[in-house]
Amino acid sequence: MKELQSFAWYAARVAPHLPKKAFQPAPERLWGGLAYLIVVVSGILTISLTDFNIWINSIIAIVLGTSFAAMGFLGHEILHGTVVRKAWLRELTGGIAFFPLSVGPKLWIKWHNVTHHRHTQDEENDPDAWPTVERFSKAKVFKPFYQLPFSVRGCLEMAFLAITFTIHSSRMFKRFIKEFQQEKRPSVWFQLLFPWTVWISLLVLIGPLKWTFAFLIPLLIGNFIVMAYIATNHRLNPLVPVNDPLANSLTVTVPKWVDVLHFNFSYHTEHHLFPGMSSKYYPLVKAEIKKQWPERYHEMPMTQALAALYKTPRLYSGETQTELVDPSAGETYGTLGHGLNPADIKPKEEGSVLLSEKNVKLNERLMK
Ligand SMILES: [Zn+2]
Ligand SMILES: [Zn+2]
Repeated sequence: MKELQSFAWYAARVAPHLPKKAFQPAPERLWGGLAYLIVVVSGILTISLTDFNIWINSIIAIVLGTSFAAMGFLGHEILHGTVVRKAWLRELTGGIAFFPLSVGPKLWIKWHNVTHHRHTQDEENDPDAWPTVERFSKAKVFKPFYQLPFSVRGCLEMAFLAITFTIHSSRMFKRFIKEFQQEKRPSVWFQLLFPWTVWISLLVLIGPLKWTFAFLIPLLIGNFIVMAYIATNHRLNPLVPVNDPLANSLTVTVPKWVDVLHFNFSYHTEHHLFPGMSSKYYPLVKAEIKKQWPERYHEMPMTQALAALYKTPRLYSGETQTELVDPSAGETYGTLGHGLNPADIKPKEEGSVLLSEKNVKLNERLMK
């Protein structure tokens, strides 16, 4: 196995090849945010103040949903400090950008910057990592899900992407609120309750039908777009003992215009090397990584990554942490860098008897 290295190890070897301006904040990103904000406010006002027309409102809802997601991507960048340096301005603009997805900046920084980035794909400590079979066997609530046929599970997993971000962020609130100092907790609560108060007030003001098009459908679309990236960022990669972004992250590729609309959010491996750098410069980082470590780097089209997600189970083998395990079928799949070929996904054959026996036992334990 290739030796794992920390993100700082890679960053130190890439940084000398980048221009100095790449390490400066890029406040011009806020113009893109302002454009999205205008689109969102105008869209909601149009639905609220005009007579209901299902076709026009459906188109507006799609535009709103894509804008919700794009604002979230910018919020992510802002809260990493790559757009404005002043802490209060960062929190204010990041809070506005995350407003449609109703995530407070303080919670996001703790969950994403401090925890996910520091412990990426660490089974115990990464709040975004999927569990091992052993750990999962303790979570009874998901067990019926794993008794469903594989294809049904795949379809459900795809459909769940439309609600996962909202559900996961409320779970993160529950998990992290206790870790804030007592005096900071009211503002963390405020950052959660304020957006939801606005969205629920809108429901009261314009009624459920218009609200479905002005907020609910856009929220589902926004969730799906954001999760299509988040789910493919790490879930095809192994769990790792060392936070090595080339081993534990995947960069997806999308058409250039999508990268423009989504603030280069597709460059996720590059982001884990330099989270404090504006994503404007990630194409340069990518070129350098591919020059120095082409055999370690993982990238694939977003559509292929989503298809691979659909075709593989979501639990890791606790023993190797580099295999994905389907407990009900007793089958094992590789991960990126460990035998998973996204163009031709099938269960591992070698040692399948042994693996099956082992997994049948695990399965019995799981499904009890
Ligand atoms: Zn990540
Ligand atoms: Zn990040």
